[in-house]
Amino acid sequence: MNRKEKILQLIEEGYSTAKELARYFNVSLMTIYRDLRELEEEGRIIRRHGNIELKQEEDIKENVCAVCGKDVDLRLAFIYILKGGKKVHTCCAHCGLIAYRTLNPEKVEMAITRDFITCNPINAFMATFLVGSSANPCCTPSAFVFANKEDAEKFAKGFGGHISDFSEAVSKMEELMKLGQRVDISL
Ligand SMILES: [Zn+2]
Ligand SMILES: [Zn+2]
Repeated sequence: MNRKEKILQLIEEGYSTAKELARYFNVSLMTIYRDLRELEEEGRIIRRHGNIELKQEEDIKENVCAVCGKDVDLRLAFIYILKGGKKVHTCCAHCGLIAYRTLNPEKVEMAITRDFITCNPINAFMATFLVGSSANPCCTPSAFVFANKEDAEKFAKGFGGHISDFSEAVSKMEELMKLGQRVDISL
């Protein structure tokens, strides 16, 4: 195993700084930095807050929205996890709500998105939705997701829109879009 392969293995085992790696191999920091730069250029690791991490699936930039084809911005992303582990990535709750009608609900294990205020990952099925407000950060009509209903209500005071749970938000979006046909999404 060459040093770069070994570095990947060590990162997986929990090594997270150049210093630790240099100590492990008993080489200079410069040498490790060179290896790390190469690994970074090869797209196998990322450096985040001074730590080295293996590049995860969710860091891969090729992810595009299954509904509209836009690049998925992780801050707004709405992701279904299907039984068996397959994921359906959409760019925002707007596309997430549209995608739902094309999925077999039996096969959907979970829907993950981020609270619009805190950016914390949340289970979308348990969240509060605000559909059709006048704020449109991604697709229109917009949909926002909040962990707390009070946040949704405060947001709606400024920007309008319809507050509901997930399943009502699906119908509301449908109504607003007046979809005549199913949207084909690529899995
Ligand atoms: Zn989209
Ligand atoms: Zn969108």
